Amino acid sequence: MYFEEIDGERQLDFVRKFDYIREAGTEGEQKAAASIQEELRSFGLESRLEEFPFEAFEIEEARFFITEPFEKEYVVTGYGKCGSTPEGGVEAPFLYAENGDDISLGYATGKIVMVNGPVRKDLYEKLVKAGAVAYLSISGAPIDEGEDLKPALYSLPSMKETPIQGVCIHHRDAVDLVSRGASRAKLVLKQKLVERISANVAARITGTEKPDEILTLTAHYDSVPAGPGAYDNISGGAIIMELCRYFNAHRPKRTMEFIWFGAEEKGLLGSQEYVRAHASELPSHQFNMNVDLAGQLVGGTVVGVTADPAICQMITYMAHEIGLGMRTSNAIWGSDSNTFAWKGIPAMTLNRDGFGMHTRHDTVDLISSWSLKRSAMLLGYIADRLGNLPTFPFPKEIPAEFMEQLDKYFNR
Ligand SMILES: [Zn+2]
Repeated sequence: MYFEEIDGERQLDFVRKFDYIREAGTEGEQKAAASIQEELRSFGLESRLEEFPFEAFEIEEARFFITEPFEKEYVVTGYGKCGSTPEGGVEAPFLYAENGDDISLGYATGKIVMVNGPVRKDLYEKLVKAGAVAYLSISGAPIDEGEDLKPALYSLPSMKETPIQGVCIHHRDAVDLVSRGASRAKLVLKQKLVERISANVAARITGTEKPDEILTLTAHYDSVPAGPGAYDNISGGAIIMELCRYFNAHRPKRTMEFIWFGAEEKGLLGSQEYVRAHASELPSHQFNMNVDLAGQLVGGTVVGVTADPAICQMITYMAHEIGLGMRTSNAIWGSDSNTFAWKGIPAMTLNRDGFGMHTRHDTVDLISSWSLKRSAMLLGYIADRLGNLPTFPFPKEIPAEFMEQLDKYFNR
């Protein structure tokens, strides 16, 4: 592999083109998909736009009041996918139940319950079981100012039953209402479910000798609504774009499929759509190399391997060969690699720790060509070896303990 062909500045230029919010199902995401296709075309590679529908929500009204012993309305955001309150809202005694432990929730019956949150499926079910009639959770920090005082926007996963509704309040307001002895509250939430369209972009480089053995290099290109997701994760998109360019010019023996996933931030939807739409081809898949969170200068590189621990040793050995610092973690990973592992395909995510994920601070200002180049060299080296070795060096197996964890992860 000729590292001088891996260009950090070119990757940084690519990242700069995506300095806007790319929430799944919005114009921003569509525009980004078109830009990725255009970049691929610029070096002669045609790609596929694979669209898919998903269920999204629109909040029409989210209000929260303390009604006793004082009257005050607080700014809140509504939780997505938990339904709407009855006409006129829900009014009930108020309880602060901290982290939602069993002792605190022992007092929850018939109350509007505030928890630290965020409320995911597990805590939601606990609140329902404890008899709460509505909930609010807390976001933000006491040092926040200005626009950071806006509560976070959360959603439940799609669930069959959502008997209670919830909103989110900022840390400062949570402190205010508890310290003033709030004892009764009212909550109003109105929302509707809508269908939106997201899309994956995929480009294939067919192997010269073993075209039926497929390696995937993947990264999600959508962002959260809070910020333009330079670190999370158009930097990952830039790294696989650089490698796509390289391998298009230096064809590997095995087939490489490069995929930019949409709607990762909505719950790994793009990758799940990909394995569904390409189910008949999955027996040919050997390994998934995913990138999620990349490009910041200050940080350390971790390769999360969801597969046999021997693959950690193999990747560590390769990193030694080229002298690039990293460590491995043999675990399931909260990104699109999980989707492949759950289908029995060994998978990894290249990850760099950094600052500001899922906030408005996640901008190109913190992205460095130095870091992009090094990550692309490391991933490119692994992909080059696996793409060209005469025989594939590890079996297609996922340890049973990871399969159990993945079952739980995808059914949460
Ligand atoms: Zn991400």
